[in-house]
Amino acid sequence: MKVNKLGKLRYNIWFYFLLFTLILIAVLWVSQVLIYDYVYRQQKLGALKERGESVYTEYNTSAPVTQSMVNDWINDAVGYAEDGYSIYLAKYSAGSVIAMETVFGMSVATEAGGSNDFSPVEKAVVSAGIRSYLVQSSEYVCVKYDYSDQTSAGSDETFYIFCGKVSNQRFGDELYLVISTPQHSLKSTVAAMQLQLLIVTLLVIALSFFLSMYISHRLADPIIDMARTAKKWAGGDAQVTFKASGYEELSELADALNFAKEGIARTGQLQADLLANVSHDLKTPLTMIKAYAEMIRDISGEDKQKRDFHAGVIIDETDRLTMLVNDILDLSKLQNGINKLDLEKVDLSELCEGVIMKFSDFAEKDGFVIIKDIDEGLFVKADEQKISQVIYNLIGNAVNYTGEDKRIKVSLKKRDGKIVFEAIDTGKGISEDRINTIWEKYYRDSETHQRPIKGTGLGLSIVKTILESHNLRFGVITKTGVGSNFFIEFEEYTDD
Ligand code: ADP
Repeated sequence: MKVNKLGKLRYNIWFYFLLFTLILIAVLWVSQVLIYDYVYRQQKLGALKERGESVYTEYNTSAPVTQSMVNDWINDAVGYAEDGYSIYLAKYSAGSVIAMETVFGMSVATEAGGSNDFSPVEKAVVSAGIRSYLVQSSEYVCVKYDYSDQTSAGSDETFYIFCGKVSNQRFGDELYLVISTPQHSLKSTVAAMQLQLLIVTLLVIALSFFLSMYISHRLADPIIDMARTAKKWAGGDAQVTFKASGYEELSELADALNFAKEGIARTGQLQADLLANVSHDLKTPLTMIKAYAEMIRDISGEDKQKRDFHAGVIIDETDRLTMLVNDILDLSKLQNGINKLDLEKVDLSELCEGVIMKFSDFAEKDGFVIIKDIDEGLFVKADEQKISQVIYNLIGNAVNYTGEDKRIKVSLKKRDGKIVFEAIDTGKGISEDRINTIWEKYYRDSETHQRPIKGTGLGLSIVKTILESHNLRFGVITKTGVGSNFFIEFEEYTDD
């Protein structure tokens, strides 16, 4: 099934953003409608308790009551009345209020009927407060009271009441302090809130719809763009460029893709070059082999001397082919990591001596002089076989490219805490512009060079791959007309 995958991310971002908004709004609704009532009550009770406690401590005092204290009480009561609180003082006996007074009067009618000025609601509230107080044996109580009017004209109302028993020198004992505040109907508040919430909800949904659309475009567009570019690239268009736009992460991704693209293009070019070079070098010996085989068949015939010479060429060329194929295989194995390093303690001094020995017969025969300057007992941690190949290639090159004097120096010394190997020749040296290219796969001097040891053009490339995998520092110091010094720096082996 063909799904428009490119559009998917954008819609997902959009969808989830909207979903998030809706969840937030739902939470808001639930909290406002369901929890508001509870929170409101708690707040009312909390505020009442706070005020009640402060008034209670003012009244409940054994100190002589002064006029300034009375003034304070009255000021309090006025302030509280403005905030919707009423303060009463009452006497209670045998289950009913026998006298009650507001603080303003500052006197408590002691005889029954003193509370005649009060409405039935006020009387009911005060009685309810005192009754609750008497039931609970604490210093004071703070309760909710639902007043239900029994008469036809009355209305129902809820009150929050604070009640505590106080005594002071002015009013004596057995006096109840009652503070009440009505809970105005929550219905109208909630309705107003709901309307407000509805408007806010609609506004937020509309806003988040457009905002999320905009954000999803901004987030998704560069990714969609990058996916399109990648598709083009996969389709074979090597000219595409990943645009480093938008966010830092995307810019990094674009840079990485561009880098990968260049790397792949470069590798492709290298492989093409390698193939061309290898096929050329395979072709030359094959042509020679064919030509000399034909010569043996058609010309040399029974002439033993000629036949031996022609056969000798065929054998030489076959050796070259074998060497080339081996080198190519070695290199590709090394570079693909198939040939894993087998690190062990290696006596590098002994290894160098061994490699030089391999060259000694040949050196003697062809008049080469190999000067050894090798310190004994230098140990390193390395893959013995591979390092041996490196040393062999470097000494081989020194022999191949040394000057007329046919002198080569191989040295292995401890220097500045490192073990340094050097293969030094007196040849033409390497010009500045070629110093980096000689390590490349299949690089060969264009001028034909009569070399005592046959090479494939892969020797230094193998050296480089092996030394890099060992993490060793290496290089060449060279001067045109004077010679070259190929060196490697090893870390000395320690037991720990
Ligand atoms: P090969 O020696 O088979 O050509 P290498 O990879 O060993 O391949 O060397 C690559 C090139 O580096 C050589 O063709 C040569 O031009 C240059 N080179 C290597 N060693 C030396 C040296 N000791 N002196 C001068 N040039 C060298």
